[in-house]
Amino acid sequence: MSISPSLDLTAFPRYQLTEGPTPIQHLSRLSERMGDVDIYVKRDDLMGLGGGGSKLRKLEFLLGEALAQGADTIVTVGARQSNHARLTAAAAARAGLACEIVLTRTVPRDDDAYVHNGNVLLDELFGARIHDLPGNADAMAFAQHRADELRKSGRTVYLAPLGGSSAVGNLGYAACAAEILEQARAAHMSFDRIALPNGSGGTQAGLVAGLLSMREDPARVVACNVLATHENTLSNTRLKAQETLALLQPGAMLPDESVIVADGQRGEGYGIPTDAMREAVRLLASTEGLLLDPVYSGKAFAGLLHDIRNRMFAPGAKVLFLMTGGLPGLYAYRSAF
Ligand SMILES: *Cc1c(COP(=O)(O)O)cnc(C)c1O
Repeated sequence: MSISPSLDLTAFPRYQLTEGPTPIQHLSRLSERMGDVDIYVKRDDLMGLGGGGSKLRKLEFLLGEALAQGADTIVTVGARQSNHARLTAAAAARAGLACEIVLTRTVPRDDDAYVHNGNVLLDELFGARIHDLPGNADAMAFAQHRADELRKSGRTVYLAPLGGSSAVGNLGYAACAAEILEQARAAHMSFDRIALPNGSGGTQAGLVAGLLSMREDPARVVACNVLATHENTLSNTRLKAQETLALLQPGAMLPDESVIVADGQRGEGYGIPTDAMREAVRLLASTEGLLLDPVYSGKAFAGLLHDIRNRMFAPGAKVLFLMTGGLPGLYAYRSAF
């Protein structure tokens, strides 16, 4: 077992939204059912604020930067059932900032559950102002325009990108990489793969940049693309990982092969259910009592199950699946189950 250099993030302002390391748990029942692979989960769905989920790690650094800039208002973008928008609204409430979210109807649904329940119900409870845009609208252009308007009225605005995946936001997952290494070391074990979903790319980019800057192998991180095509996800995530690495280690170059994306689970598109996703959500729920979400982690877990069934792991391999949260999304997808 190598002794890794630890990650020093003290140069970056951070606003605490999480309560220390999230647990890593062994799924003994599912591992037994699947055969020769040991499946573990990293419970990032257990971070408590606002219903929880992975975006809180990014928001610690995004809000750190916003508050350091003297912001009183945060504006961000997302799809109608965005977990990032919901958690930005919760974090803004916690930090005493006003919050406006620009939500697009990217997913072709207009039923009441999708438009008003799940994350949208929570957005409203957290006091965010919602801007409702059609699916083909340029949300970022709208958000920039709205930010300018707010600035003219005297507000200090911080604009966060899709998924919170700026280089600064992605530091949250560099920190998570260090956390995983430390937990693995303490348990005298190591993981052969870290599996996760990839939407806007920042979660994978942060993990990869964090591992590289600790001189660990980033190629064990394998994500399933759920938003963009394989090709676009690869190039976008490489770019984000490079930007994040540049913050951690100025001048360091990202080897292209450090970003691995496994294609095949996106189906007809972002937010559109697949049979494999339904099966994965039901399997994990009924064997372990754990909940995946229909848009991200359900599809990524389906990808992991596919690889295990197709014997893509050596016998005895240890796989860590990152549970990214998104539970409120299930309530917008009643009709999918
Ligand atoms: C945003 C999100 C992801 C994907 O993270 P990215 O950094 O956008 O790739 C995965 N799972 C859930 C539940 C999310 O909300």
